[in-house]
Amino acid sequence: MTWSDWKWQLQNRITTLADLEREITLTDEERESFVKAFEQFQFAVTPYYLARLDKNNPDCPVRKQILPRSGELIRKPNETEDPLAEEIHMPVKGVTHRYPDRAIWYISHVCAVYCRFCTRKRKVSDPEETPNRMEWEKALDYFRTKTEIREVILSGGDPLTLSDSSLEYLLGALKNIPHLNQVRIHTRHPVTMPMRLTESLNSVFSKHFPIYMVTHFNHPNEISDETKFYVMRMIKEGHVSVFNQSVLLAGINDDANILSELNYKLISIGVKPYYLHQCDEVFGSSDFVVPIEKGIEIYRRLRGYHSGITIPNYVKDLTGGGGKVLLSPEYLQKKTEKGYLFQNYLGDEYEVGH
Ligand code: SF4
Repeated sequence: MTWSDWKWQLQNRITTLADLEREITLTDEERESFVKAFEQFQFAVTPYYLARLDKNNPDCPVRKQILPRSGELIRKPNETEDPLAEEIHMPVKGVTHRYPDRAIWYISHVCAVYCRFCTRKRKVSDPEETPNRMEWEKALDYFRTKTEIREVILSGGDPLTLSDSSLEYLLGALKNIPHLNQVRIHTRHPVTMPMRLTESLNSVFSKHFPIYMVTHFNHPNEISDETKFYVMRMIKEGHVSVFNQSVLLAGINDDANILSELNYKLISIGVKPYYLHQCDEVFGSSDFVVPIEKGIEIYRRLRGYHSGITIPNYVKDLTGGGGKVLLSPEYLQKKTEKGYLFQNYLGDEYEVGH
């Protein structure tokens, strides 16, 4: 097994403080935060992603996404364990059916890297939360019965931690449901372990064409020569349409120049910038949140100055499961004492506090 083998990358992930300290120089604050925050949410990083970060600079934008922070222990009144209300819309284990025409299917608790701002940290990395094979069949039966569902989104954790044969089975079963219009895969492996995009996986994707993939790059430093090689090969051989969603993160990418460089780099490797997310109000995330006013200013600088195909939609996923609203000056409804009032697609009003 070698560096370019994704199973080697997964098996050789660094998961403990002692192993991390052998690789990078930690500050006292980082060391202390690791011990405390580790109890709330596990730590893991692949050798590949570790090589992307600056081992001596605590301000490195890649490092800040994965090193536990003391802010993770702070719980603000607006933060919840499940900001998108996924668990209360779960008819079958792993399936969130919140909007009429699409369902999210949580099929793996494993990620190559655990991001400190993860919306699903309540369950990601917990093996008990992953549906077993019998539960897969229940989920597939649910999709077959609910004819209003037009899209299934494979998610997690990271669905690409499943074997090629499991993915082949699931994609085949989904593609055989006549009323399903499309299948989408949400994965961060192109960012954190791009060697997962093997030739045999590309064959699976190509066989089940069309497949839509949404990945999650946040900073231009995450795009390496290896990213370019594996992602472009997947697009050419697997015929996959790839989109990117970034999260706007304080001290990491809250700058129009950084986002513009990221989006141009993405377009150059065949990936369309899709969403720029306001950080979800998940517990322990307040350190990462960029005020909406600042986000809108950044977005204005992107939209006005750069090619339209590099521009994602800046959105907020409403806490409580109300769906996404566009965050741009045109869509702001009303300023309130605590923040802003938005209307979702049903016309329901939601107050967004930051
Ligand atoms: S890869 Fe996605 S699901 Fe996994 S920890 Fe990061 S944000 Fe969460």
